[in-house]
Amino acid sequence: MIILKLGGSIITCKGEVQPTLNQENLDRISQEIRNSQVKELLIIHGAGSYGHPPAHHYQIGSPLKDEKDLEQKREGFCVTHQLVQELNLAVCRALITAGIPAAPLSPSSFIHTHNKRITDFKTDLITEYLDLGLVPVLYGDVVLDRDLKIRMAVLSGDQILQYLAGKLKAERVILGTDVDGIYNRNPKTHPNAQLIPLVTPEDELNFLEGAHTVDVTGGMGGKVKELLRLAEKEVESQIINLNTEGLLERALMGDKVPGTWIKKTK
Ligand code: ADP
Repeated sequence: MIILKLGGSIITCKGEVQPTLNQENLDRISQEIRNSQVKELLIIHGAGSYGHPPAHHYQIGSPLKDEKDLEQKREGFCVTHQLVQELNLAVCRALITAGIPAAPLSPSSFIHTHNKRITDFKTDLITEYLDLGLVPVLYGDVVLDRDLKIRMAVLSGDQILQYLAGKLKAERVILGTDVDGIYNRNPKTHPNAQLIPLVTPEDELNFLEGAHTVDVTGGMGGKVKELLRLAEKEVESQIINLNTEGLLERALMGDKVPGTWIKKTK
């Protein structure tokens, strides 16, 4: 089974304050998935400009202050959820149009967190979808949090990926984003940044601490933390650039493509 994460930076225009779809990327990526003829696939997508601005605006996941704050966060929960659901609909529509049996699953309806980490997640449902030959499509969402000071949290697609890939022992895990992989500095602001082809749990990665950008779930830094947790569970993953045409298709078919591998070497 392959788990594919479509980064919010790829399927939306992430710098935008308004929710903006990248339909061109979505259509091309759907076609590449179809062309690869991959058998068992699960897709998770990020929230990009649909989820991060409202989640940030309403400070979803920060400790509750008082009744007024709860009231505002309730509104924020609904607004954010509705927007990421709209994005999910667009993603599934593109996939189905390309001939992929994409079946949406809303994380907020069956995943709980405690202090922002997944606690309850009934994965039998996912296994049954996969057994039927469906392609489950999950996404970064707002969820209920069991910590009484939090109660509502933002759950990143990267955390869902880490949890699911570990639990279902995915054969391969591919994360598509808008840069070639992990660099020693942000490649968007440092043209001389060097790509790091392999990252292991032993590596010092202090330079990722500030890699948050507009992302409420930790940006590249948050992503790498999740992937290192996954590597500790003996599941390796690779980050590739989905703005490069044809790369996903090749990666899905098992070709060696440029990017960063995150795995244990000892
Ligand atoms: P996605 O939305 O695709 O999941 P993120 O926006 O969370 O991706 O992370 C990708 C972004 O992280 C890139 O666009 C890049 O500008 C930024 N970034 C910051 N530091 C680094 C780094 N050291 N290596 C790679 N990317 C970095």
